[in-house]
Amino acid sequence: MATVDPYDWIKADLQTLHRAGWHRSPRNSPSLPGPRVQWEGREVIQFASNDYLGLSGDSRLITAACEAAHLYGTGATGSRLLSGERPLHRELELALATWKGTEDCLVFSSGYLANLGVIPAVMGKPDLVLADRLNHACLNSGMQLSGATSLHYDHGDPDALEALLDTHRHRYRRCLLCTDSVFSMDGDLAPLPRIAALAHRYECMLLVDEAHATGVLGASGAGAVEHFALSSPLIEMGTLSKALGSLGGYICGHRELIDYLRNRAKTWVYTTGLSPADCGAALRAVQVVACEPERRAQLWRNIRRLQVGLAQLGLKPLPGESAIVCLPVGNIEHTQKFASGLLSRGFYAPAIRPPTVPTSRIRFSLMATHTEVMIDGLLAAIGALSISAPSQA
Ligand SMILES: *Cc1c(COP(=O)(O)O)cnc(C)c1O
Repeated sequence: MATVDPYDWIKADLQTLHRAGWHRSPRNSPSLPGPRVQWEGREVIQFASNDYLGLSGDSRLITAACEAAHLYGTGATGSRLLSGERPLHRELELALATWKGTEDCLVFSSGYLANLGVIPAVMGKPDLVLADRLNHACLNSGMQLSGATSLHYDHGDPDALEALLDTHRHRYRRCLLCTDSVFSMDGDLAPLPRIAALAHRYECMLLVDEAHATGVLGASGAGAVEHFALSSPLIEMGTLSKALGSLGGYICGHRELIDYLRNRAKTWVYTTGLSPADCGAALRAVQVVACEPERRAQLWRNIRRLQVGLAQLGLKPLPGESAIVCLPVGNIEHTQKFASGLLSRGFYAPAIRPPTVPTSRIRFSLMATHTEVMIDGLLAAIGALSISAPSQA
């Protein structure tokens, strides 16, 4: 009897991806992280890293990771509830809590797992989650997993959020508002003061994802919550894998919340603790960020230099106040051509296209370790390409 291969559909789906021009695969980049990297066999200046403070290749973090591995081994050997935790786990959590000005903190094995753990832990079937339409994928996954009713409001629009609260809030037990503070594919900031006021008025919890703001915004680099001086009780989520140059995620908040998550967040209870090397590197990063504010100052000088340079070329990046600067240069095809043009001039920045975002753009991420010469070189390349393809549609 002829049978159908039960895996045939994968081939068909891959073909669909290829036909739509949506198929992607990672490129080889065998370098120590930094602005200058090997990219598919050639040296380029890259504007594609979340390593905003340039710490991922910092010798102090590398040493801290090695020392932690020598002291405590390469693996955490099991869930922290079953196999115990290393002193570094709590040291890191307390350092993060002190920095963020919260009572306590819990570190997860990634930022994705933090959001996937916290939302289903605090939300269930009788509850309502309201989320910005452009939130990161892991907030959406967490919402789905929680079984709560989930609705999206228009991006960055607190009036739309208020309308949803007015209509729906009273029919649900608990309500959680969820937003990125810096949006990862646009680089703009959520209107957190208005959202926090709505959370208070409608008796909602508020989860703020500080993945791209930690180390970048606020007087001490603690993030957008510090930048806006928000004081209301929050669930503050962040990652150790962007400005902190390591791997892992965290939730900061009040003592009961963290104690509750240690018992109820399945992506923490049922998974192996963060590795000693990742903990050691992240802890060292928190210390470096505290005593070297000049790294953040340099990052902001770099951000301004690119913004001002683009304006001088008559180009309009998307509005934003972060290390992510997005430049629309036309449709999908134009955007891809523009990115290839940059690459042929020695600069790598990714073309971000549908379905990841509604409209195509080149996305530049800046680092404290980019030099003025690198940024001016990028601007010259952008200028040359804009003249040859003057499409700002
Ligand atoms: C990167 C990112 C995450 C996930 O963090 P990882 O530690 O990389 O898993 C979560 N939220 C946002 C907004 C992000 O940009």
